[in-house]
Amino acid sequence: TSPHSDAFVFFGATGDLAYKQVFPALQAMIKRGHFDMPVIGVARSKWTDDQLRDRARDSLEKHGGVDADAFKKLSARLQYISGDYQDDATYQQLHNALGQAQRPLHYLAIPPSMFKAVTKGLAKSGCAKNARVVVEKPFGRDLASAQSLNRTLHESFPEEAIFRIDHYLGKEAVENLLYFRFANTFLEPVWCRQHVASVQITMAEQFGVQGRGAFYEEVGAIRDVVQNHMLQVMALLTMEAPKNSDPDSIPDAKLQVLNAMRPLLPTEVVRGQFQGYREEDGVAHDSQVETFAALRLHIDNVRWKGVPIYIRAGKEMPVTCTEVLVELKPPTPPVFDADDGAASNYFRFRLSPDVLITVGARVKTPGKSMTGTDTELIAHHHPDDEMTPYERLLGDALAGNSALFTRGDTVEAAWRVVEPILGNAVPIIEYQPGAWGPVETARVIAGADRWHDPKPE
Ligand code: NAP
Repeated sequence: TSPHSDAFVFFGATGDLAYKQVFPALQAMIKRGHFDMPVIGVARSKWTDDQLRDRARDSLEKHGGVDADAFKKLSARLQYISGDYQDDATYQQLHNALGQAQRPLHYLAIPPSMFKAVTKGLAKSGCAKNARVVVEKPFGRDLASAQSLNRTLHESFPEEAIFRIDHYLGKEAVENLLYFRFANTFLEPVWCRQHVASVQITMAEQFGVQGRGAFYEEVGAIRDVVQNHMLQVMALLTMEAPKNSDPDSIPDAKLQVLNAMRPLLPTEVVRGQFQGYREEDGVAHDSQVETFAALRLHIDNVRWKGVPIYIRAGKEMPVTCTEVLVELKPPTPPVFDADDGAASNYFRFRLSPDVLITVGARVKTPGKSMTGTDTELIAHHHPDDEMTPYERLLGDALAGNSALFTRGDTVEAAWRVVEPILGNAVPIIEYQPGAWGPVETARVIAGADRWHDPKPE
C-alpha cells in the first residue's frame, strides 16, 4: 500500500467549493479519527489564519453543524497563506509552511485556467515532490482540451499522483452498484447481450439552472453530466470484472469498455432546451445550449454488441431522480402469459434521491388460470452514517487509493464518445418545463423499447 499523505494543502481556500465541501469533509474526517495533519489554505485574499478559521466555522454552521471537539482540532491545524498563484513567492511560503511534511496532498479547488500556474509553481518550488494532487471537474470541454489538461498535469505529477474527483463516483449508491454487480453470482451470467434487452439511465432534475445561467451556458447537459457522471456510471455497469484489488484494475476495466463505445451519431441524439431558459440571467437570448439530452449508445464488444444503451439527462423534468434500468429479454418461447404482454424481468438501481435495488419479476395471480402480475423484489439501502462523497474521496486520496477516481485515459476515452455531438451538430428542440424533454426524444428509442420514467417511491 502507498504511504499516507502527511499535510493537506488546499488552493481556493476562500472559494465556494472549499466553503461547501472541503471544511465539512475535513471536520468529518477528524471526527472519525481519520485525520490529523497540518491544513494549509492558499488563496489571493489578504486573510489571516483567524479569518480562515472564521470562514471554516461559518461553513460548518451552514453545512451539517460545528462539532466542538473536531472543530478545535481543525482550528489548531489550520494555516492560511495569502498569495497570487502566478507568483513564485507564494510557493516559497508554502514550502516553508510545509515544514517537516514529506508527502503533502494539494487539492486544487480553483478554476481550471489556474491549473497550469499552480502545478508548475508546485513543481518549481519542490512542493510537488512525493506529493499528490486532487483536481476537480471540468476535465476539459472536448477531447483536445482534455488532452492538453492531462499534458499540463503530467508535466508536474505522474499519473499515479493525480486524483481527478468525480464526486458522483463517491456516492454510496454508485459504490453499491459496483458491489452488487460483482459480489453476487446470479447477475453475471445474465449480464450480456444474450439476456439483456436494453440498458437505460435517467438523471432527472425537477429544477432549472437555479441562478447559475452564466455557468450553465458554458457547459450544457452533455458536458455537465453525460460525458462524466453518466458515462462513468455506465462504464461501471457494463465493464468486465476488475482483474484484482489493485487500484488500477477498475480504471483499466472502465477504459476497456469506454474504448468499445462507438462515438455517438448525431442522428441518435436529441438535444432539448426548456422553455424559459433563454430568459434566465446570464443566458443568451438565442442560446443553443441543451438543458436536456437523450441518446442511444452502442458498445461494440462481445458482451454488449447489439444491446441498445439509452442515456437521458435533463432539467425541469417531472421528478428529481437518477435511476438505472437493465431490462432482460422475456423467456423464449413463452411458457405462460403468452398473450397478455407480460413485462420482462429487470434490475432497477435507484441512485438518488433514495437508494434501492429492485428486481422486477412475474408471480402468478391467485386463481385458476396461469396468468401473472408484476412484482418487485426490493433491497433498500439506508445507511445511517453515510459519508459525503467528498469525505470519502478526500480520505481515499490521502490514503493513495485511486480506485474511485477518474484516470486521465478514461476521461479522454469518454470525450471521444461524445465528441461528435458537441457544439450544434444536433439542433436544439424546445420542451415544456415538467415534461420528459421534447416529444422527439421517442426517436432515440429502437424498436419496441421505451423510456422508463422514474417515479417518486
Ligand atoms: P471560486 O469560488 O471562484 O473560488 C476560486 C478560488 O481560487 C478562490 O479561493 C480564489 O481566491 C482563488 N484564486 C483564483 N485566482 C487566483 C489567483 N490568481 N491567485 C490566488 N488565488 C486565486 O470557485 P469554486 O466555485 O470554489 O470552484 C473551484 C473549482 O471547482 C472550479 O474549477 C469549479 O469548476 C470546480 N467545481 C466547483 C463546484 C462548486 O460546487 N463550487 C463543484 C464542482 C467543481 P480569492 O477569492 O482569495 O481571490
